Amino acid sequence: MKKYLISEKGNFYKANLHCHTTLSDGGHTPDQIKQLYKEKGYSIVAFTDHDVFIPHNDLTDDSFLALNGFEMEFADIYDCYENKTPWERVKECHICFIAKDEKMELQPFFHQTKYVIGNLEAKKLVKYDVNDPDLNFERWYDKKCINYVMKKAKQLGFFVTYNHPTWSNENYSNYMLYDGMDAFEMFNGSIENGCLDYNPSVYDDLLRGGKKIYCIGADDNHWFDSLGVYWTVIKAENLTYKSIIENLEKGNFYCSEGPEIHELYVEDGVLKIKCSNAQAIKVNYNARKAHIKLSEDGLPVTSAEFTLSKDHGYFRITVVGLDGKKACTNAYYPEDIDL
Ligand SMILES: [Zn+2]
Ligand SMILES: [Zn+2]
Repeated sequence: MKKYLISEKGNFYKANLHCHTTLSDGGHTPDQIKQLYKEKGYSIVAFTDHDVFIPHNDLTDDSFLALNGFEMEFADIYDCYENKTPWERVKECHICFIAKDEKMELQPFFHQTKYVIGNLEAKKLVKYDVNDPDLNFERWYDKKCINYVMKKAKQLGFFVTYNHPTWSNENYSNYMLYDGMDAFEMFNGSIENGCLDYNPSVYDDLLRGGKKIYCIGADDNHWFDSLGVYWTVIKAENLTYKSIIENLEKGNFYCSEGPEIHELYVEDGVLKIKCSNAQAIKVNYNARKAHIKLSEDGLPVTSAEFTLSKDHGYFRITVVGLDGKKACTNAYYPEDIDL
């Protein structure tokens, strides 16, 4: 019997799950972002401006879905001001929150005057609960504060992603302390901010450390040169807020900077994958183990089969395109597929 890891039915929708506009420090208005991404074949953009949760349901139509979200930053200001560490080396933790319900409109952890990146005026567009005990929330770069925010945001109904560990200068000793994220950024394309994040070893750290989370790819675009660099492909029944969020929560997606994954399933203990033209298809495990199928005689590889063993723990697949660009799947666990 076939157990599909990316569902057999439905349509693939290309998504940018981390995006900035003129409502924070981005160079394009939300309307312009919609047009620019539609021209690049995207169906979904999650608007995650810094520190302002401003719904964009008005941008949604039959061929485009706006997901509503915001990004929060936690910076090690003591290190910056007291130790005089240059800002480029100060540790930060950035988290995106994507509302799971399009009707959500109140921003949690809103600060009425502080934490402004790019556009002070945008604060006037934010709706918040004046009785929220976390109104004017003060942020600190410590696990207690960060975990409190992630946990409460999840309870309120947000999909939580841990962003760009490379740009943030974070390492194992930092991100292993975080609990509550649904996904992390395998790919982050914020080139103009001086970093290209591709973080496969961070994913294995998190997974081997017991954090069962998904991986996404996103542009984190601010200006034009990082539009369409990294993305997430979500398979869903249709392009509605409900269906896309349901499939995000189920992990029914992969992330990419080029290659496409057409089919992914397990049949009688054998992992089977079909993809666009590639030079290699690789499988990593939670074990001292790996599998790879390489192109031969100059012919691209477009499918592969690997026999799985539950002794090897989780597995995740990387497709390496002919140009070296990669697509990455989420991690899958033997116990979840009755291996
Ligand atoms: Zn960020
Ligand atoms: Zn960002």
